Amino acid sequence: MSELLQVNGLSVRFSGLTALDDVTFTLEEGAVRAVIGPNGAGKSTLFNAISGYVTPTSGTVHLKGQELTKLTPHEIAEQGVRRTFQNGGLFPALTVLENVLTGLHAQIEGSFLDILLGRSKALKSEAENIHRARELLKLMSMDHMADTRAGDLSGGQQRIVEIVRTVASDPPVLLLDEPAVGLSPVARAQMMEIIHRLAGEKGVGILLIEHAVELVMAAADRILVMAAGARIAEGTPDEIREDRAVLEAYLGH
Ligand code: ADP
Ligand code: MG
Repeated sequence: MSELLQVNGLSVRFSGLTALDDVTFTLEEGAVRAVIGPNGAGKSTLFNAISGYVTPTSGTVHLKGQELTKLTPHEIAEQGVRRTFQNGGLFPALTVLENVLTGLHAQIEGSFLDILLGRSKALKSEAENIHRARELLKLMSMDHMADTRAGDLSGGQQRIVEIVRTVASDPPVLLLDEPAVGLSPVARAQMMEIIHRLAGEKGVGILLIEHAVELVMAAADRILVMAAGARIAEGTPDEIREDRAVLEAYLGH
């Protein structure tokens, strides 16, 4: 699997507090990497530092070898590292399909050279966009909802459509900060299944913050465990389950 994201020695300090302490890991194409740890462990700060919303004190982030560290959030999204927000907000009066299309329309237009060479995604026809949006909804088992108003969906379905909208423009990397929080156990399991398929079938590299450890164990290929800003363990779900430091520091055994 080819490496997408390389996070190297990333640290963030907020006036004296080390919120993120020298964190290093990689994310491969088609992989789901979970980030777990107690409240205040620095998980959201890690996401904010990767996506440009906070400036790292030290360390680097690369996407396919290209440095992202000093770019703005907009530029980082343009490079292909996308995230959803807790209150991303679908347009409730628009249908599911129309909401997904807004994700395609909002995709960043190519450079002038791209446009000259016919490479701009912005030049795609609307028929192509609709075809693409429907395919993606089908992949996520949401095609039967295409013509439903987004406002009429359950909370869990809305989260899924938000993710579909975010990945509509084919970003190589997706960051999801607690996408299943507040959902019913059934909807949470569905969300994890969707994430798993997005990686497996679309090859998206997914970084996932999630509290429910059992869900993470089922959905993730590798897990990064954080406490007090630092990485305390890293490995496959099986390795993490057996890790004494994790059991003591995080799971409270
Ligand atoms: P988590 O997402 O794992 O719960 P956070 O990354 O939100 O943890 O927070 C890590 C630490 O950094 C916490 O102590 C938090 O209070 C602090 N922190 C987060 N963001 C800021 C900020 N913008 N300014 C100051 N301190 C912050
Ligand atoms: Mg958080």
